[in-house]
Amino acid sequence: MAKGKDAHDTPLMRQYLAAKGTHPDALLFFRLGDFYELFLEDAVVAAKALDLTLTSRNKNAEDEVPMCGVPHHAAASYIQRLTDLGHRVALCEQMADPQTVKGIVPREVVRVVTPALVFDDASLRAGENAYLVAIEIELGPLGEVSFGLSAYDGSTGELSASALPDERSVLSELARLDPREVLLGPGSESIGRTLATIRPRLAQRSSALAIEAKLRDATLDRVLGAGAAAKSEPSSVARTAAARVIAYAESCEPGKTLPVARLTSKVTGDTLVLDATTQEHLELVRTNDGDTRGALLTQIDETKTSMGARLLRARLLAPSIDVATIRARHDAVAFYLENPGLRAELRARLGRIADTERIAVKLLTGRALPRDLVRLQKTLDEIPCIMQEIARSESALVALGGRGGGPSSFDPCDAARELLERALAVDPGAKPGGGDVLREGYDAELDEARMLAKGGQELLVGLESRLREETQIGSLKLKYTRVFGWYIELTKTHVARAPSTWRRKQTIATGERYTNDELDALSDKVAHAEDKLSARETQLFAELVKALSQDAERLRVQARALAEHDVAQSLAEVAHRYDYTRPIVDEGLELSLVDARHPVVERLASAGTFVPNDVSLDASDEACEGSGSRLWLVSGPNMAGKSTFMRQVALAVVLAQMGAFVPARSAKIGVVDRVLTRVGASDNLSKGESTFMVEMKETANVLYRATRRSLVVLDEIGRGTSTYDGLSIAWAVAEHLADVLKCRALFATHYHELTALGDAQKGCENHSVSAREHDGDIVFFHKVGLGAASRSYGVACAKLAGLPEIVLSRARAILEGLETRGEAPRARGEAVIRDVEVSERDTRNARDVDTRPKRGRGARAEAPQLGLFAAPPADTTASSVRGVVERLRAVDPNALTPLEALLLVAQLKKELGA
Ligand code: ATP
Repeated sequence: MAKGKDAHDTPLMRQYLAAKGTHPDALLFFRLGDFYELFLEDAVVAAKALDLTLTSRNKNAEDEVPMCGVPHHAAASYIQRLTDLGHRVALCEQMADPQTVKGIVPREVVRVVTPALVFDDASLRAGENAYLVAIEIELGPLGEVSFGLSAYDGSTGELSASALPDERSVLSELARLDPREVLLGPGSESIGRTLATIRPRLAQRSSALAIEAKLRDATLDRVLGAGAAAKSEPSSVARTAAARVIAYAESCEPGKTLPVARLTSKVTGDTLVLDATTQEHLELVRTNDGDTRGALLTQIDETKTSMGARLLRARLLAPSIDVATIRARHDAVAFYLENPGLRAELRARLGRIADTERIAVKLLTGRALPRDLVRLQKTLDEIPCIMQEIARSESALVALGGRGGGPSSFDPCDAARELLERALAVDPGAKPGGGDVLREGYDAELDEARMLAKGGQELLVGLESRLREETQIGSLKLKYTRVFGWYIELTKTHVARAPSTWRRKQTIATGERYTNDELDALSDKVAHAEDKLSARETQLFAELVKALSQDAERLRVQARALAEHDVAQSLAEVAHRYDYTRPIVDEGLELSLVDARHPVVERLASAGTFVPNDVSLDASDEACEGSGSRLWLVSGPNMAGKSTFMRQVALAVVLAQMGAFVPARSAKIGVVDRVLTRVGASDNLSKGESTFMVEMKETANVLYRATRRSLVVLDEIGRGTSTYDGLSIAWAVAEHLADVLKCRALFATHYHELTALGDAQKGCENHSVSAREHDGDIVFFHKVGLGAASRSYGVACAKLAGLPEIVLSRARAILEGLETRGEAPRARGEAVIRDVEVSERDTRNARDVDTRPKRGRGARAEAPQLGLFAAPPADTTASSVRGVVERLRAVDPNALTPLEALLLVAQLKKELGA
């Protein structure tokens, strides 16, 4: 772009460049009368993004200045489109009325709109928070790294902070919060790079601001009150992250106080950990193709308020691990389930409740509009009735009173209600200033201005009829435009009859426009009265909003209480409609479900066709010493329902611990600390990772993170590599789960060889999903029963999927050769291919072969490659691993010299035969 001096060196451009200089990384919307204009590079970017015509000042000159603009009244949608693309928009407004200013109008950037700190309601989703997140990294004195994360929702004022142990926890938390914008504190670039690959559309910014302890404390004290932050959040790195979001949000609205409610400390370990992969695999809030309809949240969301919807979502993604909390939530659901009349009544009333959490913020920021006050008024009218209903029931108080849902939380805000009643017109206009927002009698000065404005209008109507009479021109009209003010309009036919005292104002295609002394005087009077009316109403409305903002904190408490009740009634409604049961949750290590169903698949299936299944895991040593099992190896044909079964078990845990009832006839769940899953195949090619690499990384994560209290769900480990490698890995993983981690686990597999482990390993049991083949077609029963499956019916499933018959019959022939004669397939017209090649080349077919003698298909068991697994090494390996683990447990690493440590490692390796 040519940068000549002249076009840039006008007073206006100098003012523009100065404003732009203060916000170089935002697109500057520069207010010029009724338009926001963009110049230079910003204009080029915005014109492309918004599909606007790019024009220029000083066209065709060397110093041409590209520009484009959007009308002020329609700016919101343009701003939203830009922020959706990840841009920030700085609004540079005129700070004085141009008519009263000599020379250039002063302008200032009053606000920066960002993907998270949005412009208006249209950019928000009712049931979702709009988080701005800051990530902080701190190095300890010994070089240890700690992570801080803070999330701020500018639309609700919610601010939270947490200290996290590692990068993976940060990514899990980000997946849970689903922020719109992330600020990366110094040193967190690698998280930024990971985010750029897994969430390429998420807006992220490096925030170089160095936040020392002094700045951190001053920032937090300013917004939360002196010392308040340190009281609620002990971790300094988490507080620094909170200070970073606050500093950023404040810089986006210079001079304004942030509407922060309080700082909530989120402690890791307080909630059931669902890492990013598990959230995705279990399709909690959206399905793998990004849709929300088939996700669990949609199925259980019967909330009636936006606050309730947001709370439900938050609970689903962070279920509790505290048995007392979980039980109290179940009590609340039980209460609404047992009181259908009250539930119906409450649902109807909640349907009339506005998003008072967000309205409270609008009151505090002075951004409330008349429609917000109307909604607030309607909400406050409902509150006493809701309060009465709840207060009437002893058990409601027991169930919800202690959880911030008791009547004391429902402050009726009587003063605010009366004020609204007194101030607000019955059907107020969209914006204050038109004279129709505030009620008659609310303010004498306003009433007088209104009368004058109205009187003036009437006088103008009177003048029009008088002029028609005087001139005898029936088509004469008095009209108004913003640019020309009031004028008399005559069509061409009557122009000659215009009195000589009239002055011509404008000629138009159809006639002429005039004025006269009387009209000038009268229109002045009317304009004055209307200006006065507008100014008075605008001022009174702002005062009204300020007065109501005194109740913002009460409204917030009330909003939280409403959300609690809404979530409880929603879960009760779901439990009632779909026959869910109250789970027993305790501190044990059991997980038993009778007639459990998958909450989403059962609803997608035709009525009554979903087949319920049982599961019974117990991770305790006592149970596993006896007949109990902590690991189920689940085998069965393709499409039989293995994944569905395993996911429904995991979902039952998530539902139970979030406080919901579960789709089962009965459920007993020893509280779970993490649900860890590895389900399905996916690759991450953009990150340079193949399907198998992703699978192994996810498996590694599961094995490193699972504790005794975790639930692990693994679906087909080792399928992305050769049969030998895959089976070996699957075997070792299953063994490690059962023998070392000892957690509750479900492990689906098509490796029938692996079922030998289920027979041999203590605490491990084979289960299978039934199906039958008939004339090459397969019938699924979807029933899980004890014992291993013998076949995968892969070819029959391939038929279902529509593979060409020629391919199917060839596959059948190869399968038969493999199964009955242990014979490797021959290429058409080729010599025999050696067994070892087959095993590597045709892993799928080899895997689907039944090798176990008990089905009379024993010939295949003699095939050399499968002999490897014929004698399960489970016991030896398990006992040596146990020995090694015990030795390691007993060792104090700090007490070892480097040489001793080296010797120990060598010795342990020897013991393992490695
Ligand atoms: P694969 O081994 O090929 O991955 P799978 O055994 O994991 O298959 P699922 O994906 O769980 O099979 O289930 C396949 C389909 O079967 C589901 O999409 C669902 O429509 C149906 N299904 C699964 N479980 C049940 C059930 N219990 N009752 C009725 N239908 C079911």
